[in-house]
Amino acid sequence: MATKLAGKKMLIAGEWEEKEDKIEVFNPENNELIDSVPAAKADDVRRAITLAKKGADVAADLSVRQRMDILNKTASYIEGNLEDFATTIALEGSKTINEARSEAARAAETIRLSAEEARRLKGESINFDQMPGNEDRMGYYFRFPVGVIAAITPFNDPLNLVAHKLGPAIAAGNAIIVKPATETPLSALKLAEAFMKSGLPKKILTVITGRGRDIGDSLIESKDVHMISFTGGLETGEKISKKAGLKKLSMELGSNSPAIVRRDADIELAAEATVSGAFAAAGQNCLSVQRIYVEEEAYDAFKELFLEKVKDVKTGNKLSESTDMGPLINEKEAMRIENWVNEAVDQGGTLLSGGTRDGAHYEPTVLEKVPEKAKVVKEEVFGPVVLLFKVKDLDEAIDRANNVNYGLQAGIFTSNINAALKASKKLHTGGVMINDSSDFRIDAMPFGGVKGSGLGREGVEFAVREMSEERIVCFKITE
Ligand code: NAP
Repeated sequence: MATKLAGKKMLIAGEWEEKEDKIEVFNPENNELIDSVPAAKADDVRRAITLAKKGADVAADLSVRQRMDILNKTASYIEGNLEDFATTIALEGSKTINEARSEAARAAETIRLSAEEARRLKGESINFDQMPGNEDRMGYYFRFPVGVIAAITPFNDPLNLVAHKLGPAIAAGNAIIVKPATETPLSALKLAEAFMKSGLPKKILTVITGRGRDIGDSLIESKDVHMISFTGGLETGEKISKKAGLKKLSMELGSNSPAIVRRDADIELAAEATVSGAFAAAGQNCLSVQRIYVEEEAYDAFKELFLEKVKDVKTGNKLSESTDMGPLINEKEAMRIENWVNEAVDQGGTLLSGGTRDGAHYEPTVLEKVPEKAKVVKEEVFGPVVLLFKVKDLDEAIDRANNVNYGLQAGIFTSNINAALKASKKLHTGGVMINDSSDFRIDAMPFGGVKGSGLGREGVEFAVREMSEERIVCFKITE
């Protein structure tokens, strides 16, 4: 499939740079070399940060209208080159072409929303005279940019998750240094190209390609970086938090999301939504459905329907229009998942479907009767594996849903308003979807987790808030 890939160079403060040292980018489906990108080192990061400090002034001085124009042009550029963006996502990552098209369209939407949020950056007046002795004072606060933001992003949504950092950062008037996942750097470089072609002044944007273990520390520990916006795994997030020191942190981490199916649920709807939520992007999605708690009266009917629908998930070549589920990001990940499933079976779990691997492909896999201590229950599988549990009632379902170290989103299927309300109050997650699975998001809603799922919220309006700060201005009237 022909596409203009984006490698060879990285963008340092608005200038395209090459390096002799390269990182090769492979198509995970067949291990074919598709491109290469520079392997940046700590010196490159330090230089990028020095330039970004100047970029922060340039970005802050852009008027809201200029920011909006650049963001709107970038969104239109993505829309005008949608197939090219989609093919890049599908080639370097593990999404199917249909999933990649939907991600590219969402990235354009995220950038357009950022343009709209730039318009809505505002403060308010403060009544200083509420405190006796301050009758001669008046003033207001406004939002100003935090300065230099470092954004570190994962492989699984290589374009839209970068857009979720870049759009709000620019809307709020910051300079930004993006370090994309080493496995999938090309979509981020393409987005950088879109910004540069849309008139983003030099110095504001860097997309630096290099391994986290080589360049992460120099980015994270720098006192000239004022905020780290990270999306990735819990383990990496914890390492970064420990090293970051005194700076703003936004942590969008993983999960092992629950779904609850009540006896009064629409079972057809519940099965449809949870199958899609478990196997979209081969389960490599922070919102993937991993644990399904079904009330005992509905268990057998739900299980039968669920397994029927799993049979319809068409696996295979990710670039084929008819494929529903592609490979994992690499064979090593597929082998890890295979081990976790085997371990769950050894511990007493029953395999209902799947459980087989072919290279980086792993079949949609369903288990039941898995003990709580198993890794597939406690940890994030990040693969096409889902567990069914029979529970007595809603209280048991909520207790077990909460009994993990994650809390991003949850879903509950019920026609009982009281059950829905109770779940929305008692589930320890950043979001609760009623009559849908955890795997629902629009780019304009607050998005983030509790416990090991993260800190802070993304979703454009909320990210703009995190990427700006309030500055108070107070006038003392002297006459
Ligand atoms: P990851 O291994 O944590 O990597 C994420 C990013 O961190 C990559 O750019 C990686 O660079 C970098 N990194 C790794 N070690 C680093 C270090 N010591 N210092 C600085 N940076 C470092 O995660 P992943 O496997 O790419 O992505 C999957 C995870 O992301 C899952 O847990 C998933 O749930 C989570 N996720 C969360 C959300 C959300 O919004 N909550 C969305 C999507 C994904 P290299 O590639 O060079 O190692």
